[in-house]
Amino acid sequence: MKIGVINADITHESRVALTPDAVKKLIKLGFEVVIQSGAGQAVYYADELYQAAGADIANSGTEVVSQSQIITTVNDLPTALTDNLTAGQIVIGMLDPYRNTQLDVYAAKGATAFAMELLPRTLSRAQNMDVLSSQANLAGYKAVLLAANEYSRPFPMFMTSAGTVKPAKVVILGVGVAGLQAIATAKRLGAVVEASDLRPTAREQVESLGGKWLDVPMSAEEAETAKSTGGYAWTPSEQYIKDQAAVVDKALSNADIVITTAQIPGRQAPRLVHQATLAKMKAGSVLIDMAAGTGGNVEGSVPDETITTANGVRIVGAANIPSMLAAQSSDLYANNLVNFITTLIASEETTEATDNAASNKLALNLDMEDEIQGALAVTHESQVRLTKR
Ligand code: NAD
Repeated sequence: MKIGVINADITHESRVALTPDAVKKLIKLGFEVVIQSGAGQAVYYADELYQAAGADIANSGTEVVSQSQIITTVNDLPTALTDNLTAGQIVIGMLDPYRNTQLDVYAAKGATAFAMELLPRTLSRAQNMDVLSSQANLAGYKAVLLAANEYSRPFPMFMTSAGTVKPAKVVILGVGVAGLQAIATAKRLGAVVEASDLRPTAREQVESLGGKWLDVPMSAEEAETAKSTGGYAWTPSEQYIKDQAAVVDKALSNADIVITTAQIPGRQAPRLVHQATLAKMKAGSVLIDMAAGTGGNVEGSVPDETITTANGVRIVGAANIPSMLAAQSSDLYANNLVNFITTLIASEETTEATDNAASNKLALNLDMEDEIQGALAVTHESQVRLTKR
């Protein structure tokens, strides 16, 4: 059974779906692998490294699609390739399911498309397949470095004979996987950090990393809702949004660096920083909007652009930070994919498979009753299975 890797042929994407190490693991399981030439070039995985790992090289995406039973990608397949799919083929990637306009085509072709973003994250057996976490963790780290680069002062406090340098004041809004890593990184660089999230459980995590919790008042009813959502974001009331804006306004008036990470799967990102607050910020302060690609947490942020406001505040619309650390992001993403692919094959066959010769023994074990496969499959047997949010 052959697995293919498509070159992520879009602007602002340098990652690759499978690495030479991942290829070795899959071949050991009994698969064959074909890579579109140049797919790993941007992360220093030349075609020769894939060949040394046992993969074949194909000249085009079309060739990869025509040869492969399972096609792996970073993002959605280019339309020209989706059109070439045939019944029974499997596509696995970060397919951006709620904004994906090709699901009808996947279904019409009879392909099974797995969107890795839909993983049920609280399942412990799914944790090693969690692409949102693996990519957000790296992105949180890199966001702080981006901010440090844009900022014209240092992060740590310095005592020098020419005067004392004050530590940077960093505010993190949204303390999930990326936000926690951003706090840890900013602290390591010597900044003073404050952070907020609508999940009250994040408070303990912020404080354990040495950050100060920015508290937004919450009604008793909201506190109950927050508890009952199993650690995930809930829909805040108008009053909460108003109170949160006041807390953010006060904190940002004194901040040097702001990193916003708040996203809601399948929906527009919440607006957390408004024009009125931006107008009160210090000249030279820097905002990194990690939600710029899904609507933006910061008013006026533009995906993949850095803009400077009239009062000298720089807003970085960081739509795809994982791609800025593409080599490491690809390594972790590829591990996530290998772990998921392993669940798609019949276990009896795989225990016997130790080399290439075993590849013909592999059998697909597609099971929409399985809580991981069932959650990730957005199309299967000619049906679109995704429920719109
Ligand atoms: P995310 O990228 O969807 O959002 C980032 C953060 O923004 C979240 O903490 C969210 O609560 C927050 N947020 C959303 N809307 C907001 C608003 N209006 N105001 C303020 N904050 C807002 O989140 P994520 O990093 O993918 O993680 C989401 C949650 O899932 C976290 O609690 C994380 O710990 C949890 N998680 C659990 C597991 C697991 O149980 N195995 C694995 C991964 C993540």
